Amino acid sequence: MTTTAVEKKTLTNFINGQWVKSTTDKYEEVPNPATGEILAEVPISTKEDLDNAVKAAKKAFVKWKKTAVPQRARILFKYQQLLTENWDELAKLITMENGKNYNEAYGEVLRGIECVEFAAGAPTLMMGTQLPDIATNVESGMFRYPLGVIGGITPFNFPMMVPCWMFPLAIASGNTFILKPSERTPLLANRLAELLHEAGLPNGVFNIVHGAHDIVNGILSHPDIPAVSFVGSQPVAEYVYKTGTSNGKRVQALAGAKNHTIVMPDADMDLTVTNIINAAFGSAGERCMACAVVVAVGDVADGLVERLVEESNKMTIGNGLEEGVFLGPVIRDSHKDKTLSYIESGIEDGAKLLCDGRSDKSTSEGGYFVGPTIFDHVTQEMKIWKEEIFAPVLSIVRVETLEEAIEFANKSEFANGACLFTDSAKAIRQFREEIDAGMLGVNLGVPAPMAFFPFSGYKKSFYGDLHANGRDGIEFYTRKKMLTARH
Ligand code: NAD
Repeated sequence: MTTTAVEKKTLTNFINGQWVKSTTDKYEEVPNPATGEILAEVPISTKEDLDNAVKAAKKAFVKWKKTAVPQRARILFKYQQLLTENWDELAKLITMENGKNYNEAYGEVLRGIECVEFAAGAPTLMMGTQLPDIATNVESGMFRYPLGVIGGITPFNFPMMVPCWMFPLAIASGNTFILKPSERTPLLANRLAELLHEAGLPNGVFNIVHGAHDIVNGILSHPDIPAVSFVGSQPVAEYVYKTGTSNGKRVQALAGAKNHTIVMPDADMDLTVTNIINAAFGSAGERCMACAVVVAVGDVADGLVERLVEESNKMTIGNGLEEGVFLGPVIRDSHKDKTLSYIESGIEDGAKLLCDGRSDKSTSEGGYFVGPTIFDHVTQEMKIWKEEIFAPVLSIVRVETLEEAIEFANKSEFANGACLFTDSAKAIRQFREEIDAGMLGVNLGVPAPMAFFPFSGYKKSFYGDLHANGRDGIEFYTRKKMLTARH
């Protein structure tokens, strides 16, 4: 690794373009989940650190909001180039702190780069609209402006992509930004900040304050932060949304998920199996768009289950930096324990355990590994169906018709993603019209939208109005003025 911020081991905050030691005396260790090796310690920063960052960001906003939009975009073009040049290093860093395999991490870097590319379209995105003649000699126009200092709070599972849903668009539209990365994956964020400054971003426009609940609460109550973007688990998203909005802030809070994949009898079996295996067990199931439940329709069930078990038994588990490894560790030993207790509960509730991930198949000592786990005959009374497990645990449900499958999936409290495998146009239309989920996939496993579309979950998967990314993103990070003028 060639990065200075990361080599420091004791991480510092990034405030006003400088690496600044936190005023805290509390630090948390950041282990590599595949080995247990301590990569760094992260400061659990104080409100004083946050205040310093907000002061810097507020000051920087005065100039940044008036910086010509094409100039802001040009910095993002340069940033895109730097991210591309450092792709391999960024991907390795993601694998080291998060555990997902290198190919998945490489793909995540691409998703981050795409967000920067979208944000670099700021001159077009920031445009308003005009009507020259709303009455005789009277014209009207809408002008778009940034809000001020934006707070961004992110989860551990996508250390690059999720922050990139937020800050590139926020700063491109003239805001300044404070990122509170997950304390479980804080390293990549520091590297993102270094490259952003190498791209020419002025001091104070982008800041990082590491930490946990105190910084989140500080952001939610800070009078100089008008808007907060949050991505994380459902209870915290709900808390962040309610607290932030009751303090008068604009909040978008993307939350947990329990995504269903319906398989019809006419589905292409090879395609279906490959995609479900990837969607259920890729990134160790720690994706908000992971396939958590397969709903097998009619006589497809037996053959499908057999193939899924066969593929799971072949899976290579280990350190994601090693060639050929598919399934990496979960994020912490505490998360492994929680996952194992979900597996126990599935057994107690009477689901049929076909693949048991509890046996530690780790190839490296000290890692937090859970093997692929498959339960058949899962019902809606079971905890393993109701709750998000966020681990490589797949539930299978058997129904007779597409109507039943859709009805089953729609009973979930969550509405992030849903997929359908079929060859039937009629089934696809029925699925699109009747399924209750915000991001739909047909004959693919992880229908995460690209940066120019909104990440559009709903029900308990999202709190707010405007989603991350796409037009929603630019609407979220800007306010409008309407001018009506008589000449
Ligand atoms: P998390 O909720 O534990 O943490 C997210 C952020 O909130 C972190 O920065 C953390 O420091 C902070 N936080 C945690 N508990 C808090 C509390 N009690 N008070 C204040 N702040 C708190 O989430 P995670 O485990 O890091 O991430 C996984 C979750 O994120 C999953 O539920 C996943 O579905 C969800 N997620 C959703 C999306 C989406 O687009 N809907 C995308 C990625 C992840």
